[in-house]
Amino acid sequence: MNDGIKFLDLQAIYRQDQTAYDAAYRRVMDSGRWILGPELEAFEAEFAAYGGRRHAIGVGNGLDALALALQVAGIGPGDEVIVPAHTFIATWLAVRQCGAAPRAVEPAAGSYNIDAAGVAAALTPATRAVMPVHLYGAPADPAAMQALCESKGLLLLEDAAQAHGARHHGVPVGGFGRMAAYSFYPGKNLGAFGDAGALVTDDDALASALRTRRNYGSAVRYQHDSEGVNSRLDELQAAFLRVRLARLDEHNAQRRMQAARYAALLVDAPGLSLPTVPAGDEPVWHLFVIRHAQRDALQAVLKDQGIETLIHYPKPVYRFPPFAAHAPAGRSAGDAVCDECLSLPIGPHLTLDQIDQVADAVAAFCKGRGA
Ligand SMILES: *Cc1c(COP(=O)(O)O)cnc(C)c1O
Repeated sequence: MNDGIKFLDLQAIYRQDQTAYDAAYRRVMDSGRWILGPELEAFEAEFAAYGGRRHAIGVGNGLDALALALQVAGIGPGDEVIVPAHTFIATWLAVRQCGAAPRAVEPAAGSYNIDAAGVAAALTPATRAVMPVHLYGAPADPAAMQALCESKGLLLLEDAAQAHGARHHGVPVGGFGRMAAYSFYPGKNLGAFGDAGALVTDDDALASALRTRRNYGSAVRYQHDSEGVNSRLDELQAAFLRVRLARLDEHNAQRRMQAARYAALLVDAPGLSLPTVPAGDEPVWHLFVIRHAQRDALQAVLKDQGIETLIHYPKPVYRFPPFAAHAPAGRSAGDAVCDECLSLPIGPHLTLDQIDQVADAVAAFCKGRGA
């Protein structure tokens, strides 16, 4: 037995670098600057450099990042945007925020992600943009996606909210689309201590349009040459994110080691599907998601042993009321994933010993229930 294995422990993340976070807090409080100041500028430069892109633009959260990107690209009513059926609802809501229509693509066989072939099959004359999600930290076929979008003249906007630091054939995700959107929601691989998000791009004009739009359509104070919103990444969160960014590679390496341990210990578990990693992909394991036909029973058994798990996500987005009009008639590939998926604990708050305990409990369940 153990005294509980938490799915997420943000206090542990804080304590690990408490001195640095507290110093960041002091620095901002002493500066008297709260909005659009030197901490945000520094974080934007550091985050752009981390992903090898010319510009990073901090915004209020990940949803705003996605919506602002579609807006500055001129996507609007009458346009269709390709989105995964299996994702967090924010991806779809961003499409609605600019007045366009989402068009769902099902997860590819053996994957949780959509692929370029699935996108190609879903294109219509109204399609203007493709929004792949690098779900759970795994690249969503980004090079093929980029080639497809270039050949068809479509905007490629990466939803990289779960994939800070992931790579595809050595290239960081977020480097394939004309823009990529990130969330720094506290539980993400790179998380703030509140809401925050960002966009990255190499395009100078888009970067400047995003900077203006996040701040009331204003590049110069009290001059408003376009419509805008208020979505800014504040100084305190930027200062905290600089501390966390310096740790990101180390935290991602820990996640990789934990994922490898799960894979090694569970490879022979009957009836269990492990996540697959296509050649050339370096996922960052925001989540470690397994599939089992008796998922609910497995989750209950783990809970009895003090092991927290979550379900990402219980239904494809079109099964929720706001998007019911997009639901296919029969049972979809997304439905099948959602009925069987289970997210095991992973992250820098856990030891390999704890990963072993979780894996042992999962393996024992699988052995007992058979295939
Ligand atoms: C977290 C998340 C978002 C939204 O980010 P917020 O900062 O919570 O607005 C968008 N897309 C995906 C895939 C996410 O996981």
